[in-house]
Amino acid sequence: MNATLAPWASDPHRSRGRRIAEAPSPPRTEHQRDRDRIVHSNAFRRLVYKTQVFINHEGDLFRTRLTHSLEVAQLGRSVARTLGLNEDLVEAIALAHDLGHTPFGHAGQDALQACMAEHGGFEHNLQSLRVVDRLEARYAAFDGLNLSFETREGILKHCSRRHAERLLADEPDGPAARFVHGGSPSLEAQLVNLADELAYSAHDADDGVRSGLITLDQLLAVPLMARHHAAVQAAHPGLDARRRLYETLRRLLSEQIDDLVEHTRAAIADAAGGGAFDADAVRRARPLVGLSTARRDESLALKRFLFAELYRHPQVVQRTGLARQMLSDLFAAYRQAPQEMSPDYARGSQDPLRTVADYVAGMTDRFAMREHQRLTGQRLFEL
Ligand code: MG
Repeated sequence: MNATLAPWASDPHRSRGRRIAEAPSPPRTEHQRDRDRIVHSNAFRRLVYKTQVFINHEGDLFRTRLTHSLEVAQLGRSVARTLGLNEDLVEAIALAHDLGHTPFGHAGQDALQACMAEHGGFEHNLQSLRVVDRLEARYAAFDGLNLSFETREGILKHCSRRHAERLLADEPDGPAARFVHGGSPSLEAQLVNLADELAYSAHDADDGVRSGLITLDQLLAVPLMARHHAAVQAAHPGLDARRRLYETLRRLLSEQIDDLVEHTRAAIADAAGGGAFDADAVRRARPLVGLSTARRDESLALKRFLFAELYRHPQVVQRTGLARQMLSDLFAAYRQAPQEMSPDYARGSQDPLRTVADYVAGMTDRFAMREHQRLTGQRLFEL
């Protein structure tokens, strides 16, 4: 826990609490306790075998959802410490933010979205909240992890109005309220959201080059990359290409983090206007965590490059096509024969399709592959 929290930080002693009240657990704060529950969850352990961009078995050095989540937590926590925000809350949100991701990254989510289109849809942020609110089954007194409002608010970073209204019917003051009534989430939630974007742009550039799907030369068409790369070459002539890329990305991230701190500090000072400004006032204000315009534009250009050249690379597209097929096949197979799911899911529910979606979404890449082979006799990927 930070020594001193800024007045606008989420104070753990003023948490809006848990859906089911629990006695405190000193010396841990509520948000430290959330973090501990997340780390001990099944969904968290599965992140190590879930694809970020590259399929889990393609190489041991590529990011997985787990290492991505750790990088987001690292970036977020160092900024939180500098700004006097609640570092434990940032860590809890960061470690949980991708818990609802399907196997095979966005391909998996697209497949489940199509399968569930007529049955309430499927959306990974919503699924992350569903995992911590309902699907984890470890505690005697409640389903899910019974996390604090602040952590749940950070996990639900996007939500369509339709979904928000459904959630609100169940929990009128819950984390979906801002998607209907407007308002911002806590500064800690805003920070994790941006740390997520900065982390994946930098690490996907690294993984993209490592995979051979993009080259360092191609990346240098992005001004942000070119600028830092030139500085690295000037300071360290003769550095091998691998280390040049690392050093370039290291400098790029440091600069973005410094800019984020400076810009956010100024935005908070501006919004506070010298008056009382606390975590509740943050929720009524415009979003305050961000980059300066110049750095944001540069960062967007890198994202656009990665989207066009890496995420849409023919080899990635081919794999994601197979992954989509795999998850659609699995969905159809379990829908037809629910007894093929693990006993916890096969037992039947009031919403059988949602149960199938939850089961498939929770799978690791390799479990999905094995199940697909078992149920269809086909082998779409080599393990
Ligand atoms: Mg993420």
